[in-house]
Amino acid sequence: MRINVAAELKLVGKTAGRHFEEEMEPIDLGGHVLDFTMPISVDLTYVFDGEGFNVAGVLSSALKMNCTKCNKEFEQPFSVDFSERFIKASEEEAEELDCYPFFGEELDLERMMLDLIILNAPVYGQCKPDCKGLCPVCGCDLNITQCSCSRSLGNDRFAPLDELAQLLKDEEEV
Ligand SMILES: [Zn+2]
Ligand SMILES: [Zn+2]
Repeated sequence: MRINVAAELKLVGKTAGRHFEEEMEPIDLGGHVLDFTMPISVDLTYVFDGEGFNVAGVLSSALKMNCTKCNKEFEQPFSVDFSERFIKASEEEAEELDCYPFFGEELDLERMMLDLIILNAPVYGQCKPDCKGLCPVCGCDLNITQCSCSRSLGNDRFAPLDELAQLLKDEEEV
């Protein structure tokens, strides 16, 4: 996404706003793929202070992922608040900046968007906060089926914890 800032460059201190949506190809993070289920949506404001632009807003989208407990595919929305700075620079100077460069009369937001996504997008998640996961014995989805396996047999180590959890749950329900 590129924003033409010819007008803002002449109006120091005047805030402008923009909303846009952009389709994003899957991003491969060395084996883990970020697969978007909707366009990247960005709401931002930008203001020139005489030296550079302060660009701030919210980026949001959703990812397709598999639940860490039951392995079911689900959609995980996410959003990132950001506040970044863009400084006018030549191609050579840009290498040494610790903020984003811009050239001419255009802010190119592509790299900032990619950085925000790669640094902030969730990589793992659960289909729902209280996902019951899979039965360690028969592998059935405990959100859907209540099997008759004695789970403490298959998972002795956690048996006392399971019993405690059940006790607490029973108490809650009384
Ligand atoms: Zn799940
Ligand atoms: Zn089972």
